[in-house]
Amino acid sequence: MSHPHSEPHGDCLEIFARLSEYLDAELPAVTCQELEAHLADCPPCIEFLYSLRKSIELCHGCEGEEGPPPLNPEARDTLAAAYRRMLARRGGVDL
Ligand SMILES: [Zn+2]
Repeated sequence: MSHPHSEPHGDCLEIFARLSEYLDAELPAVTCQELEAHLADCPPCIEFLYSLRKSIELCHGCEGEEGPPPLNPEARDTLAAAYRRMLARRGGVDL
């Protein structure tokens, strides 16, 4: 029974399930922090989050409604930093 380290975390599925609530800012702060901690070290989840956000923004754009759900600045910074790190790893290591 050898599991390669590259295998996705078992947590991911749960994270995925919560991400949409996270984006709607419906999660309690503690849960947000747990998500962010996971996201900081899990590129697949980060990518999923970003694609999810895009589709949400598109939805709001279609409806033409004002007042999209704001992600708090701290969360944004954390995600942006994690996302950049992931991109750096991808771009740098591959050669
Ligand atoms: Zn994950």
